Amino acid sequence: MSELGEIGRSPLERVRALLESPPPELTLQEAAAIAKDEFGQVGAIAPLGGERDQNFALQAGSGQRFVLKVSNANDSADVLEMQIAAMRHVGEVAPYLPVMTLVSSREGGDWVACQVAKGQTHLVRLFQESPGRHLSARSMSLAAVAELGRNSALLGRALRGFFSDQAGRELAWDLRRVPELRPLLDQISDPERRGMVARAIDDFEELVLPQLGGLRAQVIHNDLCLSNVLFTEDQRLSAILDFGDLIHAPLICDLVASGEHLLQRADGLRALRTLADGYSAVTPLEDEEATLLPDLLRARWAALVLISGWRITHYPATAEYAAGWQEGVWEMFRMVDEWGPERWRAQVARAAGLPSVSPTSEPPSISELAAARGRLFGPALSPLFYRSPLHLVRGEGVFLFDPEGRRYLDCYNNVPIVGHAHPRVVAAIARQAHLLNTNVRYLHQLPLELAQRLVDTMPPGLDTVMFANSGSEVNDLAWRLARAFTGGTGAVVSNHAYHGSTWVTAGLSPEEWRGEPRPDQVALISPPDGYFGEHRREESGWALRYAAELDGAIQELASRGHRPGALFVDTGWSSEGILAPPPEYLVELCRRWQSAGGLLVADEVQMGFGRSGSQLWGFQLSGIVPDLVTMGKPMGNGHPVAALVGRREVVERFAQTNSWFSTFGGNPVAAAAALAVLDILEQDQLVAHAGEMSQRLGAGLDRLAERHPAIGEIRRAGLLVGVELVRDRHTKEPLPAGPVVEGLRDRGVLVGSTGPRGNVLKIRPPLVIGEEEVDLLLESLDSVLATMR
Ligand code: PMP
Repeated sequence: MSELGEIGRSPLERVRALLESPPPELTLQEAAAIAKDEFGQVGAIAPLGGERDQNFALQAGSGQRFVLKVSNANDSADVLEMQIAAMRHVGEVAPYLPVMTLVSSREGGDWVACQVAKGQTHLVRLFQESPGRHLSARSMSLAAVAELGRNSALLGRALRGFFSDQAGRELAWDLRRVPELRPLLDQISDPERRGMVARAIDDFEELVLPQLGGLRAQVIHNDLCLSNVLFTEDQRLSAILDFGDLIHAPLICDLVASGEHLLQRADGLRALRTLADGYSAVTPLEDEEATLLPDLLRARWAALVLISGWRITHYPATAEYAAGWQEGVWEMFRMVDEWGPERWRAQVARAAGLPSVSPTSEPPSISELAAARGRLFGPALSPLFYRSPLHLVRGEGVFLFDPEGRRYLDCYNNVPIVGHAHPRVVAAIARQAHLLNTNVRYLHQLPLELAQRLVDTMPPGLDTVMFANSGSEVNDLAWRLARAFTGGTGAVVSNHAYHGSTWVTAGLSPEEWRGEPRPDQVALISPPDGYFGEHRREESGWALRYAAELDGAIQELASRGHRPGALFVDTGWSSEGILAPPPEYLVELCRRWQSAGGLLVADEVQMGFGRSGSQLWGFQLSGIVPDLVTMGKPMGNGHPVAALVGRREVVERFAQTNSWFSTFGGNPVAAAAALAVLDILEQDQLVAHAGEMSQRLGAGLDRLAERHPAIGEIRRAGLLVGVELVRDRHTKEPLPAGPVVEGLRDRGVLVGSTGPRGNVLKIRPPLVIGEEEVDLLLESLDSVLATMR
């Protein structure tokens, strides 16, 4: 229809033009004659249902069964050709899909044009009858629902590469045209029903239509509903029928047609989820599609009742068939009203796989969740953050979101180093999970590629990689390697350090000891705290004096019968208050320890992967060469993966008496995640970016310190930043960081606290934090500190 043609036509005339398509009314004799004359088939013939076409079942004398399809007079040969071409295309690219099989005419054509008694010409095709039977939405098993979803997606995939000019034709069943059906509302006499349909169209127009053009679209079947699929006795899908509504439209419309009646079931949401899961197993639904699905379903119901109503009045011959479409639809409309459209929408979108982020999905209350956490996880688990705990449901970049959609600037979590839910990491994980996830006792390229990439970042000599799943595990392994290599059984860690949660590493984590006795083989040194500690920043050589403490620790170990095994250093001193000592500290510590025969373990779980803003690894800031390097947390941006990189000879010694294997360690999915993180760090130059943001943050904090006497000292190693809070700069009486952390949370900014006195603000944002967000943090801190006076 040209635009000019539309001028001067009323909406009712327009909708009539869209719908007017009297079904053919051949007599049985006429149909039998066509079957015989044109297709050479003689046998018992009986009418079948149909909307715009007239269909007949034909049982030929040979025993073969056929369907004779007499097309609507409105359907041109071009449209028929498109349908046939599409079916052939599917047959070629997806031969496993049970599409109907066309039977050639006597002349060898795909269709014949037949004049019938009424003088009209109809195009007629003959198909082999497909095996199987129809199932109803209420009676089909969930397995059959899943099968329908899967086949709907497979058919969409098969049609991806198909195109025809005719696919742009006007069709009443094009969901995008639902608002054009509005003039038909008058046919509904019951005002309650009329209102429900009108609201569905209003919502569609307001919420869906503006988004629809942005969804992926292609030529689709467009009517893969239960009337057009058959199933075997054991409910496997056995036939896909009727390509008569084929158009170019949003792909999701196929799923809408497949799921149109499912919500009538007592387990409607579960059935819809099963359908969507079946579909997504082949073609994952996009979030936008899942979001729009609820209102697309309502639009489809509106089309069902309006078009069937129109056909019932205008074409009595097919009235019974058309009336069948309305079955159960009013119940489903009523369900929307009963639930309220918002809640209904949230539930349906969730069933379609949308993560529950909607404010309307009625999340359980914070107190319910917290109570369940206490009950199920027990009292040994670290307590929740915040007086009023956070329930988070989504992350994106440097922001986290609660179920109400409230946004929090994440300046605390050092794991999502390249930003929460980074699409490239997510895609890498998904793609590999789709293919294979096994273990490193089989050969696979990804863990090897990852290992090589890690070795390439290390000083020469650190050339052997062992994978596990957490920082604790690789520190535990480091301890075993060090013991085997040195023969020493003594470990040194700094006071208030944290190195993990296994039996051994908990023993290396004084932060967690809480009165439990120090393990016999562990000695402590003071962390290099130039602010509160024994040696102050003002004294020259203060850091070296801290390093010298190591000799005392070695002697202490010796007095208990332990020779040096491993010295563990968190290169960010993150549990000790974020200390950032000058390089000579680690150089000296390393020299003293290695010359005493111990191995130095650089625990890069916190500082690794560029947090320093200048180097990939924290130990590089001082130029030392550790014997073993452990890494975890940000390595997979949240996907569990950890590694130890060590000297060959150390691993060889261990291997003489031990072997090492971790079921999940370095599996292909974990490796894909970690490789994506390395790629992003490199391609987006995030280490340098972190350095720049660190400068900006540092300068801003310095300005705040001029105005807020509570800031005692600012220590910064890239985007690991500690702000020492004091009541008075002279007395240095610590000011607990808790209230500041809470105040920032109330302003939508998340930071933590650390240090033995709990008075250090711990700021560790994802490295992708931008200038605006740094400024937001600074402004928020400014206003919280102003309330502390
Ligand atoms: N080492 C350091 C320095 C850490 O901060 C942590 C975790 N906080 C670990 C080791 C242990 O890592 P995980 O929790 O992954 O076992």
